[in-house]
Amino acid sequence: MNRALSILLLALAAFAPGAVCADVEPSHRFREMAPGVYFASGTGTVTVFSNAMVVVNEDHVVVVDSHVTPDAGRALADSIATLTDKPIRYLVNTHFHFDHAHGNAGFPAEVKVLGHEITGERLRQDVTKEPIFQVAGSAESVAFQVAEAEVALEKAPEAERPAAARQLATLKRHHSAVKALSIRPPDLTFDRRLTLREGGREIQLLFLGRGHTGGDVVVYLPAEKILFTGDLLQPGAPFLGDGYPDEWVLTLGAVAALPFDWVLPGHGEPFQDRAVIETAKRFLLEFTAEVRGLRAEGHDAKAAAARLKLEGWHDYLGAVLSLPAVMELQVQRLYDLDAGAAR
Ligand SMILES: [Zn+2]
Repeated sequence: MNRALSILLLALAAFAPGAVCADVEPSHRFREMAPGVYFASGTGTVTVFSNAMVVVNEDHVVVVDSHVTPDAGRALADSIATLTDKPIRYLVNTHFHFDHAHGNAGFPAEVKVLGHEITGERLRQDVTKEPIFQVAGSAESVAFQVAEAEVALEKAPEAERPAAARQLATLKRHHSAVKALSIRPPDLTFDRRLTLREGGREIQLLFLGRGHTGGDVVVYLPAEKILFTGDLLQPGAPFLGDGYPDEWVLTLGAVAALPFDWVLPGHGEPFQDRAVIETAKRFLLEFTAEVRGLRAEGHDAKAAAARLKLEGWHDYLGAVLSLPAVMELQVQRLYDLDAGAAR
């Protein structure tokens, strides 16, 4: 389908949600948080894996995070064309993780990609060697999910078949997209901050310290008091597998010091409650204390991960609890950091 036609169909779909067939259903929903500032999330027709922010300025658009594949990034860029006909000028990556930055190549070549130096460094390396990509993002891991969805469709009662079929189709599309992955590292990197003042709006890209990765950037709009945090701060449990949990607690202190009204997280829904920051700090402190306690008892990382109780945190952790490989990555990370063996 050509771009103009797909834009037209997306626009029509937005006005007639009950009357369109599945392949023209919009891939994104946009929530306007302030004039021209949108929180973008996926509708489920395309696997996006993360949220994005779209800022429409006087003569151009700034996008924050590109989703999980070039296919998903392209779907975001196409959906933005239903909001505005202004061109996308900048794409910011909050960090290097696959679910936030592997969509970069789906954006038009003239878009400038911006990110922290660590983000650039990691995206210029072989991303298929990143542990979290191997566990949750690789073609092999998605093939496994496709096989599971096929079984689920076979077993589904009649009433649930359409939803199961839709999920399978989305996963198959995602599998093809991951197999065809191409990585586009940032064109311009920085190590502390970069301020965009074009197009009648100030947008601050801030590195406030290490946390979820070595190079997390938050995107702050001082006039609108809106903060896009990527995975540095989200409503549920953060992934620690590439993190610096001791420093992260301090970095969250710097986040709390920003005068924001809304946090737009990389996963989950926008929120205003500053208690979310205190909860994240407490989780990091309790997680690290429990892991270090198990190590002091002589357990290796795998055994410690299996023994972790994390009492009181099960709702907060959600699906991660049922993913032992992800939990092991997180525990191993702390062992490596404490041994001086982490990158
Ligand atoms: Zn992440």
